[in-house]
Order: sequence, then C-alpha cells, then structure tokens
Amino acid sequence: MHLHLDRRPYATQPAVVAEDGRYRPVSYWQETVSVTPGPPLTEDVSCDVAIVGGGFTGLSTACELKRSDPSLNVVVLERAVVGHGASGRNGGFVMPLIGWDLLEVARALGEETCGHASRLMYDAVAHTKQLIRDRRIDCDLEETGYLFLATCEARKARIRDEVDLAHRLGYRHRRLEGADLDEYVRSDGFLAGVFDPEPAVVNPAKLARGLKTLAEEAGAIICEQTPLEEFTEGRPHVLRTPHATVRADQVVLGVNGYGAALGFMGSRVFPVHTYIVLTEPIDAADLEAIGWGRHRASLETDRNFIHYFRLTADNRILFGGEDVALFYGGKLIDHDERTYRGLEARFRRYFPSLSKVRFSHRWGGVLGVTIDMFPSFGQAGPDGTIFHATGYSGHGVALANYAGKVLAPHILKKAGRDVLEESLPRPFFFDRKPSAIPLQPLRYVGLQAYRGTLHAQDWWQGA
Ligand SMILES: Cc1cc2nc3c(=O)[nH]c(=O)nc-3n(C[C@H](O)[C@H](O)[C@H](O)COP(=O)(O)OP(=O)(O)OC[C@H]3O[C@@H](n4cnc5c(N)ncnc54)[C@H](O)[C@@H]3O)c2cc1C
Repeated sequence: MHLHLDRRPYATQPAVVAEDGRYRPVSYWQETVSVTPGPPLTEDVSCDVAIVGGGFTGLSTACELKRSDPSLNVVVLERAVVGHGASGRNGGFVMPLIGWDLLEVARALGEETCGHASRLMYDAVAHTKQLIRDRRIDCDLEETGYLFLATCEARKARIRDEVDLAHRLGYRHRRLEGADLDEYVRSDGFLAGVFDPEPAVVNPAKLARGLKTLAEEAGAIICEQTPLEEFTEGRPHVLRTPHATVRADQVVLGVNGYGAALGFMGSRVFPVHTYIVLTEPIDAADLEAIGWGRHRASLETDRNFIHYFRLTADNRILFGGEDVALFYGGKLIDHDERTYRGLEARFRRYFPSLSKVRFSHRWGGVLGVTIDMFPSFGQAGPDGTIFHATGYSGHGVALANYAGKVLAPHILKKAGRDVLEESLPRPFFFDRKPSAIPLQPLRYVGLQAYRGTLHAQDWWQGA
C-alpha cells in the first residue's frame, strides 16, 4: 500500500491554527475546550505502532494499546489538533445504531447477524459511558435515552415492528404514542416514537480532549499539526510528515471521512458532510411548552435524511441533518448556507412556539460513508500490520470509541504478545470491503443520484 496526501480537498479550508498560534474552532463544542495546539513532530522516530488520526478511533486505539501493554511505543499523528475532525463536531449521541435502524439492519443482514451487530453496538455504548465514569472524563455525559420518531404514516406503521424486533433481541425499547409521546416531546410533526433508554449524550470535544489526556498519561506520544503526507508500506512502514519521518512496525489508519484525501479506500468510503445549527439557551418555560423539559430524551426522526435534536448542558437545542452534501473531488467544506437555512426553517415548523428563539452557532463536518452504510474495520498488508476502522456512516461516536477494543488485540498479537486466536474480535464488518464505485465522474453522479432517490422517497411519504 502506498498513500499520498492530496491537498486539493482542503484548499477551501482556513488554517486550523491562526498566525498567532491560536486554535480556530469550527464547532460550538470546540469553543468549550481550551486548546493549545501541540508542536509538530520535528525529529525522526521509530515506534511499535503509529496511529494516523486524533479522533475517537485513533485515541481509543492508543488508550487501549497502552492499557493492555504499557511497554508498546505508540505515536499518534494528527494533521490538525485532537478532536478537530468529526469527533469534535458531532451531535454527541452515544448510540447503538449501526448503519440504519434495527429493522433495516435485520433486512440487510438477517436477524441473527443483526443481533450480534447490535449487541456489539450496545457494548460500545456501555463501554463509552463506563470509561467516561471510571476515568472521570469531564464531558457532560447525560443518560437521556433516545427517541426515534415517525414523521409520516408510512413510517409510523413500522414502529410496532421495530419494537417487536428490539424485544426479540432482548432490548428495552418502548413504543410511545399520544399522551405517552407528549410526555417526552410535543410537535405536530411527530406521530409516534420508539424510546430506547440506553443511549446517552456527551460534549464530544470535551470527550476527545479527555481521551488525549488519558492516552498521554498512559505514555502515548501525540503529535498535533503533523499530517501524514506519504505512507510507504514496508518492514518497517515509513510515514513521512512535513518535518520528520516515522518508522513503525504497525500502522492504524483512523482518518474516517478524510481517508479519500489520502487515497485510502477512495472508491469505497465517501466523504459526506452533515451540518448542525444550535440555538441560544432555551428557558425552562419554553422547554416545558414543547414537553421536552422533563425527560430531555435525545431525538432523531426516521426520515432517510434524518433530523437529530438534543439539549446541551446549558439547554441549547442542537439540531442537525435535513440533507447531506458531497462535493466533487472529495472537497472538504465545513459550512453550507443552504442546509443551515433548511434546518432553521424545519426547526420552526417542528416547534412553532419557539419561533423567536435565535440560533447562535452553525457548523458541519465530514463523515466516512459506505454505500450500504455499514462500517469497515480490517487488516491489510502482506503481513497484516496495517489496520483501519472507518465508514461509521453517521453513527461513530460509540463505535469509534470502541474501535480500540476491536483493533488492539489484533495489533498485540502481531506484536508477539500472548493473545489467543479465538479471543480476537471479528465482528461482521471486520475484514469487509464495502462495495466500490470506481471512476470519477461516475462516482459523483452515482452518489448524487442515490441522494436524489432518498430525498424523493422522503418527499413522497411526507416524512
Ligand atoms: C456534524 C456531525 C454530526 C455527527 N453526529 C453524530 C452523533 O451524534 N452520533 C454518532 O454516533 N456519530 C455522529 N457523527 C459521526 C461521528 O462523529 C464519527 O463517526 C466519529 O467521530 C469518527 O471518528 P474518527 O476518529 O474515525 O474520525 P475523525 O473524528 O474525523 O478523526 C479523524 C482525524 O484524522 C485527522 N487526519 C485526517 N487526515 C490526516 C492525515 N493525513 N494525517 C494525520 N491526521 C489526519 C483529522 O484531522 C481528524 O482529527 C457525526 C459527524 C458529524 C460530522
């Protein structure tokens, strides 16, 4: 494998670190943490494991490796600063969804595999919450549960099947309608819902920075402002950065939506953008008026182009989704005025009583999306020492925080540590290559056509 960083997708992005050395946050969450960008790597180093990407995937892998074997030398290379990517910009939903809702997963994979996959996702949710509690990571963890809402009759009919399937798989989902639903949230746009008590919300940038501290305390070296520019597979693998070279026995690629710019899985994992708007703090009476004051459940609609809503610790409403954007040439674009306007208009339709509420922040970020929406973890290279975890397709907060649990045992075994072959985690998305859409411009046209079909279905069903 040989990778080379293409700078063109970043061409429209402002510098992450301003001339005075200060970090430029993109999201509201990133404004809530104090970040002094670490200096770039300037001396050549050799290590056991080099991890590319300082998001949840890279950080969870660094933490898990150092926890399992403190003697391993682990170096993390981060192009910007830790948590600058999706991990510091997302909605903060720590949720068990993988790809689609349970019914769609069962339809795609069969009920048995759906059961295994969803169990792993619930483990990922439990692991993330436990880690935050055990290590006292200050990231506003709130166990709100999660309410999945039907916005049209066609999808309301599916709610009963979704709950039945969840119960068969052993989960505690509850169907909510009428007065029961009003207890959680009131809007003419929501016809029925499924409540799952397990999910939680966090401030994701605080979580990412907390994981950085944990990884460093465990002895991992984290190099910010250090982009991987060229990767050459070998023994050792060679990772070239602007001022220094890293030689590593094993490599982990944790770059998710940024992978295409490196030429990694460019025809299989697509950089897709999602955008968020955030209100000013809402007062208690306004929250009570829409029934959201008591349970504070996090909300998602079951449209193809979902809407996701949650409350922040200071009672702002975060509202995201409505559309996704993918740009020709894999361009990375943090803002999209059209989607912001669509979101704000939709928000006022869902909650007309909040029409006077003002929006204080708007931002977006990039996801790695596969054509079937399922992630891809795996191992490559002639001796299997190049690992990756990518393609979370919008649901990576829990799973990327669990990536270390999945990848670390494989890495430790390759490093000659005593790990039983049968104890190696191999979920269904391990060593799976998502389908490819090979050539540009066919890829761009094909993906836009697919996006158009999903929009048409939402419109047709009145979702
Ligand atoms: C707006 C938005 C809302 C979302 N909401 C949710 C949600 O509520 N719940 C949920 O489960 N998921 C959500 N997601 C998805 C979730 O955030 C991601 O799946 C998850 O954060 C992926 O983590 P990661 O570490 O793999 O990738 P990232 O967090 O993107 O980290 C990749 C890192 O790699 C670095 N990098 C890139 N190229 C290089 C290079 N060449 N050299 C060195 N470093 C490099 C980047 O700077 C970045 O820091 C959302 C995503 C977005 C964008």
